[in-house]
Amino acid sequence: MKAAFFKEHGGPEKVVYDDYRDPTPGPDDVVVRVGACALNHVDLLLLDGRFPPPEGLPHVNGCEVTGTIETVGARVTGLERGQRVIIFPGFACGGCEYCLRGERTVCVKYGYLGAHKDGGYAERVKAPAANILPLPEAIAFEAGAALPMAMVTAWHALVAQARLQPGQTVLVQAAGSGVGSAAIQIARLVGARVITTVGSDDKLEFARALGAERVVNYRTQDFVDAVRTWTNKRGVDVVIEHIGGETFERSVLALTRLGTLVTIGSHDTHWGRLDLRHVYSKNLRVVGTNLGSILELRTILDYVTAGRLKPVIDRAFPLKDARAAVQYVLDRKNKGKVLLVP
Ligand SMILES: [Zn+2]
Repeated sequence: MKAAFFKEHGGPEKVVYDDYRDPTPGPDDVVVRVGACALNHVDLLLLDGRFPPPEGLPHVNGCEVTGTIETVGARVTGLERGQRVIIFPGFACGGCEYCLRGERTVCVKYGYLGAHKDGGYAERVKAPAANILPLPEAIAFEAGAALPMAMVTAWHALVAQARLQPGQTVLVQAAGSGVGSAAIQIARLVGARVITTVGSDDKLEFARALGAERVVNYRTQDFVDAVRTWTNKRGVDVVIEHIGGETFERSVLALTRLGTLVTIGSHDTHWGRLDLRHVYSKNLRVVGTNLGSILELRTILDYVTAGRLKPVIDRAFPLKDARAAVQYVLDRKNKGKVLLVP
């Protein structure tokens, strides 16, 4: 089959579109003919070697995949060739202490499609049958591929980790990102009010259209000041943070008493200072989150089918142009998800 893969670490120039080994399904796996695959920030880390693929090189990126089942493993029941599906990207062992507690996202053997296994920058991809959900007819392959990481991560962060309530206020960092654009919509769905940040004025209207009440260009305005003004000096109940560094450090200052900051990623740096005085004196919670559950993905599919959540897609590239797509994301030109279509 054809795939866009890399044999050595580096920039987008290392992404090669060429022949690649066909996936061979085990008895509990299916092989999916890829309909669409979305790009993610983690793809860049895998490519440049900050997060080297655990199974080594060559490697195929791509954790968000929709498509059609082509081959079904011998022990798989309830799935059939030709079925439209979406792949839940998180793999858990099912047997460790945390899986047994029902907390599969912190499984000691947790892995991702496209990171721990070859992913969807390809014509075909293999996944465990346990990770497969039917893709409703109303959701196109491209729209579906924009959901599994960003929407599930934002849902788990806001609903499960921050326990967001109607009427609360949320600061969402980076409205233009996949997680940011998802978090704004989910916060609005819950009935919360949203302030968000963007890095350029051409994203202001985009963020408002998603449901943000107040949009701050963080390059020209201090977002902590903007939060204080917007909340009448009170601060927000929840912050969704995935940048790290100074953005993390200052996000804590935007919280009100008993507020929760959920850290989802560290796109600029893995480090961030924490002013402990704010944490203990205001009884703040700083919690981490890592993807979510396949049940949350199924819930999201229902909301998307009903038109109450919208996958945010910037543009799709042909699979053979994967290198250009990676460069486009690296240059932060996108508002929403960038897709590859074989
Ligand atoms: Zn486990």
